[in-house]
Amino acid sequence: MTREDRHESHDIRGLESGDNNLVKCRGICERYRATKIHGESRYANGQRRCQTCEIFIKWEGLWCPCCGYRLRTLPKSKKYKEIFRKTTATMTTT
Ligand SMILES: [Zn+2]
Ligand SMILES: [Zn+2]
Repeated sequence: MTREDRHESHDIRGLESGDNNLVKCRGICERYRATKIHGESRYANGQRRCQTCEIFIKWEGLWCPCCGYRLRTLPKSKKYKEIFRKTTATMTTT
């Protein structure tokens, strides 16, 4: 008997965030929609971000009152989803 169970070299990252079929936005989050505060961190004001609803809500709970998905309380890192503008160095030769 040779137990060769080391074939777990599959790079399956992001699998957890892929099964959000059960959670759906029901529109309730609109009632808790947080207003954008200029110059201040949203998280610092008790605002939370729901990944499913893709909205910032003013909610104290850990779970979204709308879809029931886990909310983000603190930003993981400083880098947001920055839309990288593909500044292609196109030499405009006139
Ligand atoms: Zn929602
Ligand atoms: Zn939600």
